[in-house]
Amino acid sequence: MERTLSIIKPDGVKKGLIGEVIKRFEANNIKIVGMKLVKMTKKEAKGFYSVHSKRPFFESLTDFMSSGPCVVMVLEGEKVIEKNRKLMGATNYKEAKEGTIRADFATDIEKNVVHGSDAPHTAAFEIGYFFQGIDLL
Ligand code: UDP
Ligand code: MG
Repeated sequence: MERTLSIIKPDGVKKGLIGEVIKRFEANNIKIVGMKLVKMTKKEAKGFYSVHSKRPFFESLTDFMSSGPCVVMVLEGEKVIEKNRKLMGATNYKEAKEGTIRADFATDIEKNVVHGSDAPHTAAFEIGYFFQGIDLL
């Protein structure tokens, strides 16, 4: 069993995609073991995306991520890190496979609806950023 962090980003919440994204997780036997609505401050968004602090898109990305509420979830299942990344599709929605969340709903390389951890060590950091052990089922 693995766990991963999923975020429905501010654009996804604004577009009314909370139910749609969760429906896809449920349809793929992914269990949600933690969930909450969070509006990050700019500082919290910078901390979350600190691995990207030297990238040219960092300022814009952290402005966007702190611009409105996000749904943060901990997903659990076998190979759920990879499974979630497959459901999300490529970072750039133009390169994302048909039927993925980003191909279906993203409008921009930055505003790409969802976040998902990409490896066990990033999942552990990202889950711990938003949840304490006691918050998870
Ligand atoms: N991003 C961006 N421009 C880029 C690459 C990434 O605005 O050229 C944003 C986008 O929102 C992406 C996030 O930064 O989801 C984190 O980038 P990463 O490469 O980790 O992509 P992800 O893991 O989200 O697919
Ligand atoms: Mg990433």
